[in-house]
Amino acid sequence: MLKKIFAANWKLNKTPAESKLFIKEFNSETTQDFFSNKEIFIFPQNFSLDAVLTESANSNILFGPQQICSDIKGAFTGENSLVLAKNIGSKIVLIGHSERRQLFHENNYEINKKIKLSHELNILPVLCIGESLVERKENKTLDVCFEQLDQALLNIDREQRIIIAYEPVWAIGTGLVASLDQVKTVHAELYKKMTDLKFKNFQLLYGGSVKADNAKDLILVPHVDGFLIGGASLEAISFLEICKSGN
Ligand code: PEP
Repeated sequence: MLKKIFAANWKLNKTPAESKLFIKEFNSETTQDFFSNKEIFIFPQNFSLDAVLTESANSNILFGPQQICSDIKGAFTGENSLVLAKNIGSKIVLIGHSERRQLFHENNYEINKKIKLSHELNILPVLCIGESLVERKENKTLDVCFEQLDQALLNIDREQRIIIAYEPVWAIGTGLVASLDQVKTVHAELYKKMTDLKFKNFQLLYGGSVKADNAKDLILVPHVDGFLIGGASLEAISFLEICKSGN
C-alpha cells in the first residue's frame, strides 16, 4: 500500500533556529514506526534549508525548496538553483504554488520547465494546481485544473514520480475548507486525468485550510493520498496531529 504524504509548506516563516527546534520537537514525538505508513515532506524557507538538512541528517523527513529557478545557473539575480538545493541534500521541490502564480506571475511554461529540471536532477516535484473562487463559481474548476495539468505536464516523463497537490485557491489560508464532496469530485477527476495522461507513478494531495479536525475525514476521501499544509504545519504538535490522520 502507498504511504500517505504529509507535506508542510512553511512559506516565509521560521528562522533557521526555529526550524531546527521544530524538527527536534517533531523527532522527539515520533518513532521509526511512525514513518512505516507515511512520508513527511517539509518545505522550509530557503535560508533555513541548510540548517534543517544538517539537523536532520539520517532523518526520515524529506526537505526541499518552495521555489526554484527553471535554469540551473547564470544571470538570474535573486533566483534559487535546484542544483545547489540538491547539493545540500534536498530531495523534493514545491512547484507552482498559487502564491507563486498570483504574486510572482509564475506561468505554466516556467512550471513545466521546473518539473523537467527536477526530474532530470532526480528531485521529486510537488506540483500545485487549483481554481480561484470566481472560477469555482463559474463552474470552471475542472477546466482550470485540467488546463494547468496539460500545460505543466507537457512532455514530462510518464515513468517518473510526481505529486499533484490540488489546492483550491479560495481555501488556502482562509479557513474555508473544500467540502468532502467537492474534494471527492475533483480528486476522482484528477485521478482519471492523470491515468489518461499515462502517468504511472503519481499521488494526489489536497491542500487548503487542513487542520487536525478536518484531516480525519478528508484523508478518507478516495484518491486523497495526503495533504499539503500551510498554517497548521507551523507548530510541530498541530502538524503531528494531522499526520496521525494517516495512521
Ligand atoms: C498552502 O500554503 O499550500 C496551504 C494549503 O495553506 P493553508 O493550509 O494555510 O491553507
